[in-house]
Amino acid sequence: MDVWVEKPLIEGDSVTFQWTQSEANHFQRENSFSFRYEGLQLEVFSIELFYEIFLALQLRVFSAYHEAVTVHFPTPVPAFTAAFWSAYHNSERVMVTPISEFGGYRPWVGEPVLVTQPRKAAVFFGGGKDSTLATCLFSEIYGANDVVLIQFVGPLRNDPKLTRYLEERQERLMLKPATEQFGVATQRGWTNYQAIFREEGYALRPHLELYTVGALPTLLAWGVEISTFTANWTIMSTERRRTGKWVYRYAPSRPTALVAQSKHYRATLGVPITVTNVVLPFHGLAAHLLLTKRYPKTIDQIVPCTLAGVDRRSCYHCIKCVLFALSCFATKTTTPDFDFDYFWRESKFVKRSMELAESGVENSMFGNVPWSRAFFIGSRGYIMGCHIVARIDLSNLPIELTVDALANLTTFHAMYGNTLFPDQEAIPRIALDLLGEELGNRIGIIASQHMEIVDRIPQPTFSGSTPIEYSLDEPREPRVAMLEHIRGRNI
Ligand SMILES: [Zn+2]
Repeated sequence: MDVWVEKPLIEGDSVTFQWTQSEANHFQRENSFSFRYEGLQLEVFSIELFYEIFLALQLRVFSAYHEAVTVHFPTPVPAFTAAFWSAYHNSERVMVTPISEFGGYRPWVGEPVLVTQPRKAAVFFGGGKDSTLATCLFSEIYGANDVVLIQFVGPLRNDPKLTRYLEERQERLMLKPATEQFGVATQRGWTNYQAIFREEGYALRPHLELYTVGALPTLLAWGVEISTFTANWTIMSTERRRTGKWVYRYAPSRPTALVAQSKHYRATLGVPITVTNVVLPFHGLAAHLLLTKRYPKTIDQIVPCTLAGVDRRSCYHCIKCVLFALSCFATKTTTPDFDFDYFWRESKFVKRSMELAESGVENSMFGNVPWSRAFFIGSRGYIMGCHIVARIDLSNLPIELTVDALANLTTFHAMYGNTLFPDQEAIPRIALDLLGEELGNRIGIIASQHMEIVDRIPQPTFSGSTPIEYSLDEPREPRVAMLEHIRGRNI
């Protein structure tokens, strides 16, 4: 298959990417997508920067065709850019042409054009507990005056009403309160990229690249030196397939891959932009605990879910709302606009759990009901989830519940809350070490004032009812780290 990429179309703060294919696009509805970065003038950036974004997103899609693909660009693509994103997406069958004789490029057409008050640190901000914690940590370390929150309105389907809803909700419930409470700056963006995918292509939608690459013009304009997305260590398990092959879950988000991506930016753009994951050491309850202990006001500000009304923080029914409600009960914290009694009476999740209890399910995993899809957290969070429930003290609840609500909580507690796993509140030292010496030390000092730091991965570790392993520092040499320009030699 041949793909012909057009020159990116830049209009003020928007850029539109377009291409044609010699065969039908099986995975996307349109051969076009756009980004808008509020208030930035995009003509100050070089065309190669937009090639960087296009390849980071689209090579994953092109490599899903079961044939060789040649992607033709109107002007040469920097060699490091093509090499990095090809390795990142394992896209050996996709050839990019023409390739420049130069490895890197200057991301600016002329001199760098920065916003009036640049900021050193950026958080890709979703409004939930993890990115709120990241905002607090970065504000404490670098000063709130040096932090910018970056948020995209990125609907999953092409629907102007949905876009307006997301835009209004994100501004009203997330960005405005963050500016007022933390004193940080905010930068909005819009993209329809995720909305162009057909169902057949859902697995090809971007992960962290939507932000860590899609937001590059923003990172450059704000003079950002360190940027963070948020993913807890628990999702990054190491599992052995039946074939005997080891699988490293969430490969692109793993610490060694982030180090390589940061090196790529330094070597290719000539700009020291570090991409990190500052909440790696914390999982569910640990993040919630640190917020309640060190930044208690934030509990009234977290927006756990993405489904509730435009002026409501919680829907009460989704797994994120459930995690929030249970974490509050486990840590004896409340927040005025979350109706905990309603939650325990009416949440669809609670009702499903009560049906499961009535079905006669037996407690067989550590004295608890085994993990199932009806649980409130993914299979790798099962042990922590049970610990959260066990931590709820039925004789000392943060609020008084009505009889029906208390009956449901008591049943739920009998299903999942029979064993404490105190390790689950500890911070694994290796997760701090993997943030790099400087940041890891700073986060370690903050964390150690509130919770234990341990030299081992908290145990036990299960995915559902299957024991799993964690080696967060693997793979030592992911494909992207093997590239010449990442290893410090010229291509
Ligand atoms: Zn919800």
